[in-house]
Amino acid sequence: VNSEEVPHYELREDPSFWMENNVQVVIRVRPLNNTEKNLCGYNRCLRQESAQSITWTGHPELCFKFDHVACESVNQEVLFRVAGLPMVENCMAGYNSCVFSYGQTGSGKTHTMLGEISELGVNPGPECGMIPRIFELLIARIREEEESRRDEKLKYNCKCSFLEIYNEQITDLVDPSSTNLLLREDTNVGAYVENLTEREVTSVGDILTLLTQSSVNRKVSATNMNSASSRSHTVFTCTIESRWEKDSICNSRFARLNLVDLAGSERQTASGAEVKTILAWKKGFECAAIQPCLLSWIVNFSLVITNLVDRTSGKKWHIPYRDSKLTFLLQDSLGGNSKTLIIANVSPSLCSSKETLSTLKFAQRARRIQNNALVNEDSLGDVQTLQNQICILKERE
Ligand code: ADP
Ligand code: MG
Repeated sequence: VNSEEVPHYELREDPSFWMENNVQVVIRVRPLNNTEKNLCGYNRCLRQESAQSITWTGHPELCFKFDHVACESVNQEVLFRVAGLPMVENCMAGYNSCVFSYGQTGSGKTHTMLGEISELGVNPGPECGMIPRIFELLIARIREEEESRRDEKLKYNCKCSFLEIYNEQITDLVDPSSTNLLLREDTNVGAYVENLTEREVTSVGDILTLLTQSSVNRKVSATNMNSASSRSHTVFTCTIESRWEKDSICNSRFARLNLVDLAGSERQTASGAEVKTILAWKKGFECAAIQPCLLSWIVNFSLVITNLVDRTSGKKWHIPYRDSKLTFLLQDSLGGNSKTLIIANVSPSLCSSKETLSTLKFAQRARRIQNNALVNEDSLGDVQTLQNQICILKERE
C-alpha cells in the first residue's frame, strides 16, 4: 500500500449499532503526518477492505473485522454521526455510557475526543471532536424533550466533572489545586472520586468553558511532569438525571456518561518516582516483588479485558479492577452496567507497523467483552399517593 491516495469507504449509520452488543469497537485511521512521510514515504501497514474490515499488511497478512473502520478521510463530523450520536440517545434513554479513546501516543486519541476547540467560539467548530459534539446534541435533545413533555413536568439536570489520572494520582482538572483525590466505593453509586468538583451545565457554552479551562489546567501540569500527557488518562464525566410525573407518580432516570482519553498504549517502563508511588499504593494488595515494566497501566488494562473475555467462555477469572485507579473507577464501563464504545486510533504508516498491529489485536479482543446495560429508572409515588396507601393499609389492619 504505497500511494498518496487511499480508497475511501463511506461510513454508514447502522441501525443495528448497539442492538446486538453493548460493547462496540471502531477503528480510526488518521492521515499520515510529515514525519512519517519523511521516514517511510507513503508506505502503509494497513489496507482497508470495507467499511468494517481492515488488513494489516505485514507477514503474514492479518484481516480484522470491527463494528466500523473509519478511514483516513473520515472527518470529525461523520465519525460523530456514526459513533457519537447513538451514545447521546443511549444516555437520554437512561443507560450508562462510556467512550474510550485508545491508541499509541500520536495516533489521534485527543484529536478524536476533544479535537481543536476554539477558546472563544460558543459553537463547536468543524475540527472539534466527540466531547463537544456529544454535548451540543445532548443539550439540544434535553431542551426538545423538556419542551415536548411539559405536561409531565419533565426536568433534566446535568453535572460534569473532569479529572486526570497520572502516576496513580487523581487530580481535579476543574480545580487543579485539588490533587491526590481518593477513590471510594458506594453500594448505590459504585466507584466515585471523593471531593471532585461537579459543575452544573445548561448550555454548550458552559461545556466549552469547562473544557477550555480544564485543558489549560492539564497543559500546566504537563509541562511540570515529563511527557505527562502521554502517560496520563483524562476522564470527563457527566451525570444526567431526569424527573417527570405520570399519573401522580414521580419517575426518575439516571445515566452516567464517561468520556475517556487514555494514556498512550505503548509500553513504557515506569520512572523511579512512578515505581515508588505505585508500590506504596499497592501495599496491602500484594507483597510480591513487582517488575517496573509490569507496573504500566496497559498491562493491568489488558489483563482486565482478557479476563473479562475469558469469563464469557465460562472461565471464572478474577478481574483485577482494583489494581489500578483507572479500572477501579471505570469498572462499570468494562464488563458492567454500561454501553461502551472503544475507539481504537491507529497510524497507517509503516513506521508504526508494530504498534498498529498491537492496537488492532487489543481492539479485536475488546470487542468480545459482554456488558450488561440496564435502564437506570425509579418510580416514586408522590407524597399524596404514599399517604393514601398508608391509610388503606391501616384500614386493613
Ligand atoms: P494522541 O492524543 O493519541 O497522542 P493527538 O490527538 O494529539 O494524539 O494527535 C497527534 C497529532 O495528529 C495532532 O497534531 C493531531 O491534530 C493530528 N491528528 C490526529 N488525528 C487526526 C485526524 N484524524 N486528522 C487530522 N489530524 C489528526
Ligand atoms: Mg493525547
